[in-house]
Amino acid sequence: IIEFKQVTKRFETQTVLQELNLRIEEGEIFVIVGPSGSGKTTSLKMINGLIEPTEGNIYFKDKRIKDYNLQKLRWQMGYVLQQIALFPTMSVKENIEVIPEMLGWKKERREARVDELLREVDLDPEQYRDRMPGELSGGQQQRIGIVRALAAEPDIMLMDEPFSALDPLSRTSLQDLVLTLHEKLGNTIIFVTHNMKEALKLGDRIAVMQEGRILQCDTPEVIQTQPKDSFVRAFFDEAK
Ligand code: ATP
Repeated sequence: IIEFKQVTKRFETQTVLQELNLRIEEGEIFVIVGPSGSGKTTSLKMINGLIEPTEGNIYFKDKRIKDYNLQKLRWQMGYVLQQIALFPTMSVKENIEVIPEMLGWKKERREARVDELLREVDLDPEQYRDRMPGELSGGQQQRIGIVRALAAEPDIMLMDEPFSALDPLSRTSLQDLVLTLHEKLGNTIIFVTHNMKEALKLGDRIAVMQEGRILQCDTPEVIQTQPKDSFVRAFFDEAK
């Protein structure tokens, strides 16, 4: 569903991504893992057109990203960030409705969708729909962040270290939530993290990045049993 072909990105003199080749299949959870500064976020932002490659091309459903109407493309791609990015002056319901509303969904359909999604993440609609983000815990806010990204049934979810700021318990429970939702919806998820343990838990396939290159791209089993080099092995050992 996504393909990177010989993608290089330079910011001024710094080369951040080097001739990246990558295929992400429809319906998989694809995890990009690597240390800080390895180019994970840059890769993710290229998928929804927030950053353009210096060289090479990225394709979504066999068409170049740059040939899409980027606004519309982003509506087809849910985006969840580490910094919880709910609109603080809008209620839970209004936050979730943002994209369905832009897509012209009627009020009844939007409201039904909000309630359905809140139930999906174990938040009672009656109790939570009219709350403001400031009246929720961090974990609850991130639940709403996930649900908001899912609201318009996107083809792809882009998730950039979504749980890094949370306590270990909330983190585990949201990882489980991602797996449950994915099982139910079968959507494509591209998940960025610097945590190998999280990568092994969530990924159908994992790409290990270092300094703008992909060192290895394999299933968790292969990464664990046949790490390609000492960097992958060391990174994996940390997760034990
Ligand atoms: P982290 O886990 O810390 O978020 P990352 O693997 O996601 O790291 P990127 O955010 O993709 O890494 O950044 C890769 C490199 O590109 C870094 O060295 C960063 O300083 C540089 N970089 C990112 N965005 C820009 C920009 N807009 N202008 C200049 N340099 C940038």
